[in-house]
Amino acid sequence: MIEISIEEAIKATGARAKGSSRLEKLPPISIDSRTLQAGQCFVALKGERFDGHDFLEDVLRQGAAAIVCSQLPTDAALWTDRPLLLVEDTTRALQALGNYARRKWGKPLIAITGSMGKTTTREFTAALLGQKYHVFQSPGNFNNHFGLPFSLLQLELGHEIAVLELGMNHAGEIRALSRICGPDAAILTNVAEVHLEFFPDLGAIAEAKGEIIENLPPQGTLFYNADDPRVTRLAARHSGKKVSFGLENEAGVRIRSYDFTTPGEMQFEAAVVSPQWGFHARVPFAGKHFLYNVAAAVAVAVAFGVSREEVLQGLAQLKPLAMRGRFLQLSNEATVWDDSYNSNPQALRTVLDTVGRLNGFRRKILALGEMIELGPAAAELHRQAGRQISRTGACLLVTVGRNALHIAQGAQEQGFPSYNIKHFDDSEQAADFLSSRIGAGDFILVKGSRGTRMDRVVARLSGQHMQQ
Ligand code: ADP
Repeated sequence: MIEISIEEAIKATGARAKGSSRLEKLPPISIDSRTLQAGQCFVALKGERFDGHDFLEDVLRQGAAAIVCSQLPTDAALWTDRPLLLVEDTTRALQALGNYARRKWGKPLIAITGSMGKTTTREFTAALLGQKYHVFQSPGNFNNHFGLPFSLLQLELGHEIAVLELGMNHAGEIRALSRICGPDAAILTNVAEVHLEFFPDLGAIAEAKGEIIENLPPQGTLFYNADDPRVTRLAARHSGKKVSFGLENEAGVRIRSYDFTTPGEMQFEAAVVSPQWGFHARVPFAGKHFLYNVAAAVAVAVAFGVSREEVLQGLAQLKPLAMRGRFLQLSNEATVWDDSYNSNPQALRTVLDTVGRLNGFRRKILALGEMIELGPAAAELHRQAGRQISRTGACLLVTVGRNALHIAQGAQEQGFPSYNIKHFDDSEQAADFLSSRIGAGDFILVKGSRGTRMDRVVARLSGQHMQQ
């Protein structure tokens, strides 16, 4: 953590200082009473389903060395011997501290937003930058009004560059997050029907993503997807340096001639405009969507002076994250494409397109969970996804969750036989069904929104058929 004195913390948060003033430095921050370690400073956040103030006495007994809260713990004997910062709003206080740490650290920070691929792009970008710099990246998917400032409070003096993701499901959130982290550069991945329930239309989602540009300084660089028309329109608003990336259109970093050679592997050619160089690479994952994340990472790395050789070294080390596109080889010689972390109509479209290009399997099976937060268009968006299924070469479709019935309906509209479709209310039942039916040479895609818990299908299949 960047060193912040108690005095600086009081100033940054506008807190009233209570308790002892013996400590000079703000201790490392904890926002979770369950994982708090003795000697940490506990910030009592209030969320929709919890209030950290309910645990104040516990954390004091556990040895919290300082407290940031908006109500005093009743038993004064527990806290008068240590600093207590009394603030009006503890979330704002955490954000003020995060922002203070970020400014004191003072080095380049790259913020990523977009509907899909934030975490993967963050991971890839950090891996390529990591060939030259000591990189900080947000832990896990800490990308909201709590997670982002908490991430900033994990920065260390030795970090030379930071890559953070900004998530949102409502308008105004990206603006607030970018103010907290003060980016020097931003990556805009794409705009798609994610959290559509909270927006009137896709245009409004784009506007919300575009808030990141408002807080990009004029000398800051915007990295943006050249193939997404909504993103390119947003990019026009940034007057500073811009670098585009993509597959279809002319771009600062463009990937083409990609092919999926063996399952779970791709090779591609990439061209970088400035400085002008090209390269050929092979990566241990497959899917057109991944190439956008790779192209974005290459664009950032090149802009920050990572050499061609270092980029190539970094590419060789890229791996998909768990549940986000890993190919798993089971001991019964079936292959699972585990994309169970999340789903939305566009991501599903892209992944189904990739499934259609995969060859060499005895049978292709799709296990698709419903996609949530799509609002009134949900049924139609599921149906549209289903219409694509006959082009994938799949011979069995397993759907999970109520809205996924519309996927099945869309598939049937395009001639997919109803006797090759099985529907289940939950993923455990789907796992039961599938576990006895997959065998050597089978390929199975598992994908669905987080809430559908399609990861249970993967866990069952891989638990049963563990690769030795
Ligand atoms: P996010 O952090 O934005 O939720 P992730 O990197 O965690 O995105 O990926 C979640 C899922 O989104 C992946 O499993 C994949 O299906 C899809 N995805 C990832 N990157 C892209 C992309 N560039 N375009 C379309 N879909 C993507």
